Amino acid sequence: MAKAQGLDTSSISRLDQTRISQYFGCNTFSERTMRERLQKDAYKAYRQALKRGETLSPEVARSVALAMKEWALEQGCTHFTHWFLPMTGATAEKHDAFITWDEDGAVIERFSGGQLIQGEPDASSFPSGGLRATFEARGYTAWDPASPAFIMEGPLGKTLCIPTAFVGYHGEALDHKVPLLRSMEVVSRRAQESLTLLGVKPDAVVAQCGPEQEYFAVDLELAQQRPDLMFANRTLQGAKPPKGQELEDHYFGSIKERVLGFMQEVELECFKLGIPAKTRHNEVAPNQFEIAPIYESANLASDHNQLLMEILKSVGERHGLAVLLHEKPFAGVNGSGKHVNWSLATEEGSNLLEPGHTPEQNLQFLYFLCATLKAIHAHGGLLRAAIASAGNDHRLGANEAPPAIMSVFLGSQLNHILEAIETGDVTDASTQHILDLGITNLPMIEKDATDRNRTSPFAFTGNKFEFRAVGSSQPIALPLTVINAAVAEALEGLNAQLDAELKSGKEHQAAVMGVVRKAILETKAIRFEGNGYAEDWKHEAERRGLPHAKDTVAALHIWEQPASKAVFTRPGILAEHELEARVHIRHEQYQKAIAIETQVLREMAETQILPAISTDLGARAGSLAKLASVGVAIPAPLKAALEAQAALAGEAQIRLKDLKAALAEAEAVEELQLRTATFGGRVNEAKHALREVLDQLEEACDADLWPLPKYWQLLSPLV
Ligand code: ADP
Ligand code: MG
Repeated sequence: MAKAQGLDTSSISRLDQTRISQYFGCNTFSERTMRERLQKDAYKAYRQALKRGETLSPEVARSVALAMKEWALEQGCTHFTHWFLPMTGATAEKHDAFITWDEDGAVIERFSGGQLIQGEPDASSFPSGGLRATFEARGYTAWDPASPAFIMEGPLGKTLCIPTAFVGYHGEALDHKVPLLRSMEVVSRRAQESLTLLGVKPDAVVAQCGPEQEYFAVDLELAQQRPDLMFANRTLQGAKPPKGQELEDHYFGSIKERVLGFMQEVELECFKLGIPAKTRHNEVAPNQFEIAPIYESANLASDHNQLLMEILKSVGERHGLAVLLHEKPFAGVNGSGKHVNWSLATEEGSNLLEPGHTPEQNLQFLYFLCATLKAIHAHGGLLRAAIASAGNDHRLGANEAPPAIMSVFLGSQLNHILEAIETGDVTDASTQHILDLGITNLPMIEKDATDRNRTSPFAFTGNKFEFRAVGSSQPIALPLTVINAAVAEALEGLNAQLDAELKSGKEHQAAVMGVVRKAILETKAIRFEGNGYAEDWKHEAERRGLPHAKDTVAALHIWEQPASKAVFTRPGILAEHELEARVHIRHEQYQKAIAIETQVLREMAETQILPAISTDLGARAGSLAKLASVGVAIPAPLKAALEAQAALAGEAQIRLKDLKAALAEAEAVEELQLRTATFGGRVNEAKHALREVLDQLEEACDADLWPLPKYWQLLSPLV
């Protein structure tokens, strides 16, 4: 196969490239490297601080910093940076060279414990939702020792990146990582309490995640000719191609060589950074692909997914590809999502959502399953709000992605079992599925018996839940935070009930089954096995009282509900003012996204499309006039076609004018919610209306005069 363009394997050239295990994580300051390079005492102190979630003492920090610097210099690093996840959704970094003056005025390399542990980027330009007045614009980055430092390779040298949390002067969370870490701690604590009550030796519990990432890759040179792809990350105009995904021949199809070369280099970069990339395949839409890693602890998975998105883009560019992470780059073609697979496991590796081999294990499984059902039952709306964005609005509920109504799919076997527990008629379900009866009246649950229901937003898939409604460009930290927080709250409730039952002297298994049964009854409304795309489901969901926020404008209100606030504030995952700041930022981001799209579409229409149409009309009119001048009768249909195209161009002008007016109206609105609603309503409608005529104009315009690469060009196989 052709050597991939620009492939830099220099750092692993001495190693056997076909053996991933030989170089996996070679660009990370991993636990192993630390163990090798740190003094025994320092390593032990570091491990202990990590386990207890404490900050490092200055001496330990100094030792770690020294070892990290030596390692980084040996690897060729010249700079270091605190790498963090501000609420823009992208990652942020500010590079500093290791150099400083020594006493004699010579340049030396230095990196102190203080520089490792804490940084102070000028934070005033990051969104804070009003948390920081400009006079105290300082923000601090603090090392997250649970996520290993890594090396980013550049064309002329390397940079040591230190994953950090980003907080304000008074300790306010200013990023996506702080709440995620707090939520992991809370859910771990609650789950440990559950294990104790269930009579199992409690062990630290870790939320785990494996995010499947979908994306489009299109030819970079073509993409660069489209201002919408460059500035709004999606096409704002584009007539349907003659062949879209109707034939469904792309899904799991053979991967073209150019794409394979790109994927292989992406994986190489991932492996060097310790990202366990596992699966690659073609997706449903033309030029749509997926990459999925092996699951890891949720905060690591979150960091790795952010890194992965950057790797996809930068490696893509080296291969002449524009990687589009937007939820809906092309109208009329499937959009992209991110399936966030989530589970809870003990530190020893036992999955709490795994059906087991013994009745006791299954009792534990049912308990955690019910906690998740309760979590989604209580906070499905919030989960919906956590994934609301201008981009995701194009997917959710559009019959290609889960509906905007949150429900849980369990599969028929598990459903039977829950029904049997509910009615007390366990023998009935046992005819098919229950192997072990009698002593405990508890079903043995087979693994991997789950059927597939692609229309469900939150599906149980054997030993984990798969949250399928997350948008492809979104950081997974927030949805994970919401799941952890909601499950922690549910476990707290179940634990209190179980504790009371046990204290009242109830026999252990009966007590657990009582709590489980009650939870099954209370959460029935959230379980749905049918077709989530069906119109009926919307009515059915309404009857069941399930929230249905059909778009971001509606979903943003959910944050304001007392129950939504309490799930964060009660356990201290986010204080009320931190939460309010986040909601403010979500409003602003939504408004900005629509405003940018509007400005880009305006510019494309006014300076590219309409002038081209004018030229086209002029050329055609000229041809007709020429024909007439030599005495050829002009066929009526020809004249009619020209008139129709001219009328459409006129309509486009009217709609363009209205789009400008809509944008001005929205920008004049000061009140936050109303402004969001105006962008989501008036502006979006005007944008849609203009696009409609522009697409029709494209269909009739002389292709040589059309100023933008067309859908068929962008979606043609990449060769
Ligand atoms: P599918 O496309 O069938 O859903 P994939 O193999 O593409 O399956 O992706 C499954 C994802 O779920 C992977 O990222 C995998 O690591 C992750 N996963 C598997 N088990 C767990 C678990 N216990 N907790 C969290 N994620 C998991
Ligand atoms: Mg999946």
